[in-house]
Amino acid sequence: MLKSSALLTALTLAGLLTSAHAADTELNLYTARHYQTDEALYENFTKTTGIRINRIEGKEDELLERISNEAANSPADVFITVDAARLAKADELGIFAPLDSKLIEERIAPNLRTDTWAAFSVRARVIVYNKLDVKPDQVRNYEDLAKPALKGLVCTRSGSHPYNLSLGAAMIQHNGTENTEKWARGIVANFARQPKGGDTDQIRAVGAGECGVAIANSYYVARLINSSKPDDRKTMEAVGVIWPNQQSWGTHINVSGGGMLKHAPHKEAARKFLEYLASDQAQAYFANGNNEWPVVNSVKVNNPALESLGSFKMDSLPVGELAKTTAEAQKIYDRAGYR
Ligand code: FE
Repeated sequence: MLKSSALLTALTLAGLLTSAHAADTELNLYTARHYQTDEALYENFTKTTGIRINRIEGKEDELLERISNEAANSPADVFITVDAARLAKADELGIFAPLDSKLIEERIAPNLRTDTWAAFSVRARVIVYNKLDVKPDQVRNYEDLAKPALKGLVCTRSGSHPYNLSLGAAMIQHNGTENTEKWARGIVANFARQPKGGDTDQIRAVGAGECGVAIANSYYVARLINSSKPDDRKTMEAVGVIWPNQQSWGTHINVSGGGMLKHAPHKEAARKFLEYLASDQAQAYFANGNNEWPVVNSVKVNNPALESLGSFKMDSLPVGELAKTTAEAQKIYDRAGYR
């Protein structure tokens, strides 16, 4: 009896020691972000907290499958990715823990977070046009891209890409299903060529005059503005940039973001990391390293390209709502032949 109660005491003590164990010294980060400049962002976290980051990089779907398969045994602490619809998809799998951070609630606007994940940077989907072939007044709005006047001039990457699906999802919520389908058909009718390549390829094709107008994420535009390569300089001299829909619902934005996982073995480190991503320092990395906008308004941007693009009215649709109409957007694009 004595022996077993001593054992119990020892076990309780051990238990207490584990639950109050010295702060986490490592963090397992599953990330589908694909930007080289994130390196410094992570190094700075380790430098300030002493917490080492084990980074597992992969394609979104592979990482999600892995987290689902690992279930309760998953070593993943934090999952981050780009695109609101993908974040929502991850959330639907039930992999996230509640965010539960006063600091994040204080620093990040409600339309840029949900109960389980938060956006840490914002990118805008802008219109780029060839200054010789297209007048800016022809392309003030996403809706303009479907107008007959732009026949043979429009280029985009694949309609199935999450960036375009999220745009379609926002269009559905603002303009309705029927109008969005008409719009998609109009875009297809205006194609200068079948969708191919990424956003940067569209900007280059516009610069070269192969396309008159295209849509692209703002950080790809900013990257070319910041580039000192002669080809990029030439491209950007030929290209104008428009903040779409300034007179209506605002420019469509998307985000990169993440959350803590339900089975995170290092919950304390995970919380610290997510709060770090909302810190002034980390926010500056997003803006100055990858040409994205901070989600924290007070953070000072020191990026000539972003500053040269100026300020704009963002779509205020909560990014957590975009996923509600992404599947519908895909169906519309399929019917319209926007592949
Ligand atoms: Fe991208």
